[in-house]
Amino acid sequence: MKNKILLITFTFLSFLSLKAQVKSPSEFLGYELGSQFSRHADVVNYFKHIAENSPLVTYHTYGKTNERRPLTYAVISTEENLENIEEIRKNHLRQTGILDGNPTTDKAIVWLSYNVHGNEASSTEASMKTLYNLITEKQDWLKNTIVIIDPCVNPDGRDRYANWYNQVRQTPFSTSQDAAEHYEPWPGGRPNHYLYDLNRDWVWATQVETRSRLKIYNQWMPHIHVDFHEQGINNPYYFAPAAEPFHDIITPFQRDFQTRIGKNNAKYFDEEGWLFFTKERFDLLYPSYGDTYPTYMGAIGMTYEQAGHGRGGLGIETDQESTLTLKERIAHHFTTGISTVEMASKNAEELAEEFSSYFNNLDRKYETFALNGDKDKIADLKELLDRHEIEYSTANKGEKISGYSFTDNKDGSLTTTDQTLLVTTQQPKGHMVEVLFEPKTKLNDSITYDITAWSLPYAYGLDAVASSKSYSGKNTTETSNISNTVNAEGAGYIAKWNSLKDAEFLAALLKQDVKVRFSELPFSSEGKEFNAGSLIITKSDNQKLTDFNEIVVETAKDFERELTVASTSFASSGPDFGSPDVKLIGNPKIAMLRGEGTSSLNYGEIWYFFEQELSYPVTAIDTDYFNRIDLSSYDVLIVPEGYYGSALGNGGVKKIKDFVRGGGKMITIGRSVGYFAGQDGFSIKENRVEENKEDANSPNLTPYNMRTRERIKGNSPGSIVKATVDNTHPLAFGYDDTYFSLKLSSSNFGLLSNGYNVAYMQEPKVVSGFVGSEAYKTLENSVVFAQENMGRGSVIYMVDNPLFRSFWQNGKLFFANALFMVK
Ligand SMILES: [Zn+2]
Repeated sequence: MKNKILLITFTFLSFLSLKAQVKSPSEFLGYELGSQFSRHADVVNYFKHIAENSPLVTYHTYGKTNERRPLTYAVISTEENLENIEEIRKNHLRQTGILDGNPTTDKAIVWLSYNVHGNEASSTEASMKTLYNLITEKQDWLKNTIVIIDPCVNPDGRDRYANWYNQVRQTPFSTSQDAAEHYEPWPGGRPNHYLYDLNRDWVWATQVETRSRLKIYNQWMPHIHVDFHEQGINNPYYFAPAAEPFHDIITPFQRDFQTRIGKNNAKYFDEEGWLFFTKERFDLLYPSYGDTYPTYMGAIGMTYEQAGHGRGGLGIETDQESTLTLKERIAHHFTTGISTVEMASKNAEELAEEFSSYFNNLDRKYETFALNGDKDKIADLKELLDRHEIEYSTANKGEKISGYSFTDNKDGSLTTTDQTLLVTTQQPKGHMVEVLFEPKTKLNDSITYDITAWSLPYAYGLDAVASSKSYSGKNTTETSNISNTVNAEGAGYIAKWNSLKDAEFLAALLKQDVKVRFSELPFSSEGKEFNAGSLIITKSDNQKLTDFNEIVVETAKDFERELTVASTSFASSGPDFGSPDVKLIGNPKIAMLRGEGTSSLNYGEIWYFFEQELSYPVTAIDTDYFNRIDLSSYDVLIVPEGYYGSALGNGGVKKIKDFVRGGGKMITIGRSVGYFAGQDGFSIKENRVEENKEDANSPNLTPYNMRTRERIKGNSPGSIVKATVDNTHPLAFGYDDTYFSLKLSSSNFGLLSNGYNVAYMQEPKVVSGFVGSEAYKTLENSVVFAQENMGRGSVIYMVDNPLFRSFWQNGKLFFANALFMVK
């Protein structure tokens, strides 16, 4: 008896002490939640504290950001579930066919992702409250539900915002819209370290945050995924159902269930008298978002948007005569998060059944995508597929596969080689395969939030066919069989120029002070043919390098490049190595603009390209002090997309022109082309639709409710166009005579009469995606890439940004050509 009492007392005491140890966010942080912006490290410490003191939570690190902050997630469920978590997870994957075996009843799996945009900072605060509430008050739901919380998808961006805010805020905080604490400086906290929008990166997975997250996502494949965001201060709250267009691969259940979740959220908002909207603005089409990506992977994927954003601070007056505080923002995100978990728990069985039938329904329009082309480009595509754990195989040689030809944009066929890549929709992730490869995006509404075309064969520059038949290939593991021989006696080495990997190889040689030439004309050496652009590395240029042969052969090995040994400089046809048409690349010193006026996204893309892809030095110069810099020590100046009117002023343009006339090279991209167009000395001009005078003066009788529709005629949110290429120009070395470009803007520029039109369209050829009827007219006789000489230097116009989100793999060589090949 005595023992029993003792035991009960002991159990009761340990329960009490457990309860006492688990602190609420406010208790742990030492300030009331919502009265400060928490630093990322403090949030991580809070999650650690909970995991150490509650048996209902485990907490894990899944990676590290560029600035070395941890990427983390917590798994929350009952003690019993957590003990069997590995079996629960595997059983869940068996429902999809990703793992073999007979599944038993599935638990509901809800994944809540917070703060993907760093300056939408209320959501990470809400994640702490949500965690605490789930383990203290909502334990019953956890019996059949696993909740995964990623408290901060973008820690570098969040701390950029939170640290800035904490530095400039007034005490007490100012609610005036004019206060400095509501005006973030360039580049703002929204993107990650390299200034990428992580909510556009789910599929392309170019960033370390996405790459690390996908590994865990693939292990879990949740039933529901919520991406917490913030929008302008005057739009109270947005939740599902989403806006049209929906991709037609989305099932009736996915449409229905997100509406049901939305209604559950609405119930709680109505109880409190909080405003919200649904069905507007945020569509489900572009596959690389935090709502669409999970949706195409079978989940109910949703975006929740709270008013606030980088302007919100701790409190701000809205235009609707009220003050919006951080505390309110947290309360709203907390409420929708909890309401979503409730819906998952109450409908766990239905979710599981529908999830499994999503994966079992493989009735797709196309069964096989077959792709031919450059080995490096195929390897790049495989790397992307691997990140999503999408299966592929290599075709049997000599088969003819018929279907829709991506290159000819009509029915056609392709004959397989022993390199042909086959990707089938008849696999668990077949829905996603279809979305990513389909040659034309089907749009049921043209008002959309993002690009409307992304088909991978175009993005990777591969020749492809979409077939409704099934073809099977073999699984092969790549083994590099490249072995180059050292050529101590001969004239040097020749290497091909076709892909970004070739450019990386060149960059590595230049960094080791190897002098490299390229041929402006095709040539053959000892019976082998080489295209224009091929690299020529001669002994003669590199007499000073004592270990010249070893460096070249070792570097080629590192980059898996095949070298051709040239025993003589004498070409069997075409220019000899000493010809004026075989030019020295030199070691270009490159500068680029950043800061006020530049597009932070495009600056980030260029920055990332130099550091993480090409691996070649570049100097970033801020527009603030650009006018005070001596440019004479640079060979190349990159002017990213941007609005430079006030950022550079007249002094800036003159400085750039002097730089070019003196022998420099300027590369201008996207919107910045428009800045130079029409300025004295630059011959590029914008294509405009001529409005005839009568139209201009006639009254506008478009009804009020049709004006948005009317406006989209002038829009071009992102489509794929087919351009003609002059591949005899160094800017296009390594390319065919056609190029599929991602057209991102309705600003189009006319063919140059005084320069080189390197990639261009005479007749507009839009192969996928939406271009408004007015914007379409300006595509006629427009340039994609062009070059003109100015004084002793050169200007390169890249109207379409080839580095956009780093995913248009086939555009990157144009950029490398602009840096190294164009003289
Ligand atoms: Zn956002």
